[in-house]
Amino acid sequence: MHFEDGSPYTYFAPGPGEPPARSVGWLEEGHPFTIGRLPTGVLDRIAWRCAFATTHQTRGIHRCSLCPRDAYDAERECYLLVRGERPRLLGTREVWIPGPRGVIYAAPDLVVHYLVDHAYLPPPDFVEAALRLEDALPFGWSVAFLTRAEVKARW
Ligand SMILES: [Zn+2]
Repeated sequence: MHFEDGSPYTYFAPGPGEPPARSVGWLEEGHPFTIGRLPTGVLDRIAWRCAFATTHQTRGIHRCSLCPRDAYDAERECYLLVRGERPRLLGTREVWIPGPRGVIYAAPDLVVHYLVDHAYLPPPDFVEAALRLEDALPFGWSVAFLTRAEVKARW
């Protein structure tokens, strides 16, 4: 599912009391996106959100369409690995990040994979909003492709 960065969020209809949101990080093959280097601290903060503060769980798994098919076959899924925690399957939830002036940014949890493995550089307002988040994973986390069998065997 592709949405332009900054476009009104429309993936789910707003729930009661949910503020309007802006889409960020809904990348898909065939749609160019900005790449670049993130300021220190952004990744750790977004990763924390993807690990511990997601919303809008979906029934299916969205797979990254940017990864080469042979590297990301149907057996493998993208996981966020946090030291001491069970791996978290990515591609099934969203992270919402409050921005300036009441703006909310809605990103798929795969955004952490896009940042790590595809050098995706989100819009500056989103980056600033992420830097203002209090919680961050301190160290010892990564994103990896694993099979369910590997996850079951190791965790
Ligand atoms: Zn990918």
